[in-house]
Amino acid sequence: MTDLLSCYFTKQIKKLMHNIRQYQVPLQKYMAMMDIQEMNERLFYKLLMQNVEELLPVVYTPTVGEACQKYGSIFRRPQEGKFLRCLKIGLRKIEVIVVTDGERIFGLGDLGCQGMGIPVGKLSLYTALGGIRPSAQYAELLHEFMTAVKQNYGKKVLIQFEDFANHNAFDLLEKYGTTHLVFNDDIQGTASVVLAGLMAALKLVGGSLAEHKFLFLGAGEAGTGIAELIALEMSKQARTCNEAPLEQSRKRIWLVDSKGLIVQSRMESLQHFKKPWAHEPEPEPVKALIDAIKAIKPTVLIGSSGVGRTFTKEVIKAMSSLNEKPIILALSNPTSQSECTAEEAYAWSQGRAIFASGSPFGPVEYEGKVYLSGQANNAYIFLGFGLGLIISGAIRVHDNMLLAALEALAAQVTQENFDKGLVYPPFTNIKKISAHIAASVAAKAYELGLATRLPQPQNLVAYAESCMYSPNYRSYR
Ligand code: NAD
Repeated sequence: MTDLLSCYFTKQIKKLMHNIRQYQVPLQKYMAMMDIQEMNERLFYKLLMQNVEELLPVVYTPTVGEACQKYGSIFRRPQEGKFLRCLKIGLRKIEVIVVTDGERIFGLGDLGCQGMGIPVGKLSLYTALGGIRPSAQYAELLHEFMTAVKQNYGKKVLIQFEDFANHNAFDLLEKYGTTHLVFNDDIQGTASVVLAGLMAALKLVGGSLAEHKFLFLGAGEAGTGIAELIALEMSKQARTCNEAPLEQSRKRIWLVDSKGLIVQSRMESLQHFKKPWAHEPEPEPVKALIDAIKAIKPTVLIGSSGVGRTFTKEVIKAMSSLNEKPIILALSNPTSQSECTAEEAYAWSQGRAIFASGSPFGPVEYEGKVYLSGQANNAYIFLGFGLGLIISGAIRVHDNMLLAALEALAAQVTQENFDKGLVYPPFTNIKKISAHIAASVAAKAYELGLATRLPQPQNLVAYAESCMYSPNYRSYR
C-alpha cells in the first residue's frame, strides 16, 4: 500500500512539474504553485523539495517580488469565517473602523487588497484632524503583540521579524533580543549567508578576514548587518591571539551610503546604526564609489544599496587592478537592481573575480571557460538556523549562534564547488545543509546554556534530520 501511494505521489509530482513548465511567465508559475498549496499542502511541499532549484525562484525571490506588486490582482480566495476570531484576539478598545472592498478606488479602479492604503490613510486623518485617539501607538501595539505571543505560546516560540524598515528593525531586535527568541532575517540572516560566502571565498583568495579590507555600497539593514558580523567574526578569530577588539576590527570595514563615504565628520547626522562605521582618520571627502575604491583599496566589494548597475566597468576594473582575485558581491535584488551581472563581473575582471549575487545568474562563458556564480540566498541560513533553535528549545538568539550557522554553511562548500567558482554549495542539497546548520546552532545553544530541551541528543545532525517534516501521503489501512 505504501509503495502504491508513493508511486501515485511520484506520478502526481511529475505531471504537475510538466504542467508548471508549460507556463512561460514566472508569475503564472507562481499562481499555479499557490493553487497547489491551497489544494494539497503535502503535494506542494513535496514538489518544492524535489525541485528546489527550479521552483525556489518561483515561490521566492525574484518572482515573489512581482507577486507582491500584483497581489491585488492575483489574490484568489479570501479566507472566510475568521472575522470573529480575529476580532477576539485583536485590540481591546476600538472606536472607528474604516472598511473597504477596494473595488472602486477613486481614479484608480479596482485595486483589491492593495486598496488598503486608502482606509489606513483615512484612519490617520481621523486621528490627525478629527482628534480621535489612535487605538494604539506603534510601539504599544508591537509590545502587546510580543507579550501576547509569549504568554500564549511560551518563551521558546521563534519570532522572525520580516521587512521592517531600518529604524524599527534595529530597535526591535535590540529591545526584544534580551526577552524573546527573536531573529531578523533581513539583518541577521543576510549577514550570516553573506559572511559564509566570504569565508568560503577566502579559501580561494587566501588570507584571514583580518587581512582583507571591505567596502560596501549601501549602509542599510543588509550592509551594516553584514559589516557587524564580519567584525564580530574577525574579533573572534583574533581573540585566540589576544588582539583586535570589536572597534579595531570595524576599522577594516568601510561603507558608502547615498551621501558618500561614511566618515567621522558626518557623525552628527548619521542614523545610530551607521555611527560605528564613521571612521577616522578620514581620507579626502569621498562621494563616488570609484573614489572610495581608490582611497580605501578594498579587497572585497559588496553592493547592498538596492540600486542597480552601480558596479560599472570602471569600478570592476579598479577592483581588478588592486587585487589578483577581487571578491565582488552584487547583493541587490531583484535581478534588474543587481549592481552588475555575472557576465559583466567576469568579463571586466578578465575572469579573475570571485563573484556571488543576491539574485541568481546562469553559467557564464568567458574566453572558453565556464563560470558558475553562487547566490547568497537567505534560505541557506534561516531554515537551518530556525530548526536549530527549535530542536534545542533555545530561548534566546546569540551572535555566536549566527557565527556557528555560517561556519557550518561555509564548511559545506566542496572542492568540486570551488573548482567551478562557487562559494555556496548547490541548493539541491538544502535539506542536508540545513540539518548541519541546525546541528551547529543547537550545539552552540547547549554550550551557551540557552537550550531547554534536555538531555542534549547524542547526534545532533541525525536528530535534526529526524525532526524534519516529510510531506508523504499516509496509508490509513
Ligand atoms: P535598506 O533600505 O535598509 O538599505 C539601503 C541602503 O542603501 C541605505 O543605506 C541607503 O542610504 C543606501 N543607498 C540608497 N541609494 C544609494 C546610492 N545611490 N548609493 C549608495 N547608497 C545608496 O535596504 P536593505 O534591506 O539593506 O537591502 C538593500 C539591498 O540588498 C536590496 O536590494 C535587497 O534586495 C538586497 N538584499 C540582498 C540579500 C541577499 O542577497 N541575500 C539579503 C537582503 C537584502
